[in-house]
Amino acid sequence: MNIILFGLPGSGKGTQAYKISDKFELEHISTGDLLRNEIKKNTDIGKKVKSIIDSGKLIPDELINEIINSDYNKDLNYIFDGYPRTLEQSNFFDEYLATQGKKIDIVIFLELETKVVFNRLLGRRKCPNCGENFNVYYNPPKNNPFCDICGTKLETRKDDKEDTIQKRMEVYEFETKPLLNYYSEKNVLVKVDASKSEKEVFETLLKIVSKKLNKVKDGTY
Ligand code: AMP
Repeated sequence: MNIILFGLPGSGKGTQAYKISDKFELEHISTGDLLRNEIKKNTDIGKKVKSIIDSGKLIPDELINEIINSDYNKDLNYIFDGYPRTLEQSNFFDEYLATQGKKIDIVIFLELETKVVFNRLLGRRKCPNCGENFNVYYNPPKNNPFCDICGTKLETRKDDKEDTIQKRMEVYEFETKPLLNYYSEKNVLVKVDASKSEKEVFETLLKIVSKKLNKVKDGTY
């Protein structure tokens, strides 16, 4: 089973992918997290991608595809967040999955207006210790800027500042949005209203994913 969570930066892909992967025991691949991890560890890849990520642009397709190629295990079930992000990546991924006897089962589009996304990203804070997410506008920590769970000082992502967010929106519009048509034509696209609360979106996703998983299990898919 391969599920893709798709949507604008800030549409809730990361949060929901984490919860869904936990609930259904799926492997969660977030290319953004993988890259940020490389930066933290100061690896060769990390050094190569740091300035690109900080500027809001996309990492070259070959590098991202290579990461997916080396991480993917056909015997596991996955939820992807942040990949694929260009037509080049989606073509590569389809061809690669076919070589593994696999395919993309469902692409869930978390639909949200751009202006909402802007505030979500500007307010986003993450605990570097326990990973808990907050938003100073929508879900503020009780004792800002410290984590409610473990008391560690919260961090803001470097690319969550106004001019970089603007760039990421443009990149999404021109490079990522065309994937909607691509997956719609393949009949794997499902749209979900991501303006609802985190809990409501999660409940909708639960229904979609469990329906799909049941179909796979009982062989009707
Ligand atoms: P994210 O955490 O998904 O918002 O990703 C943060 C940044 O990582 C993006 O703005 C890109 O610079 C880079 N990135 C993540 N996934 C991809 C991808 N599939 N293709 C190219 N760049 C990516």
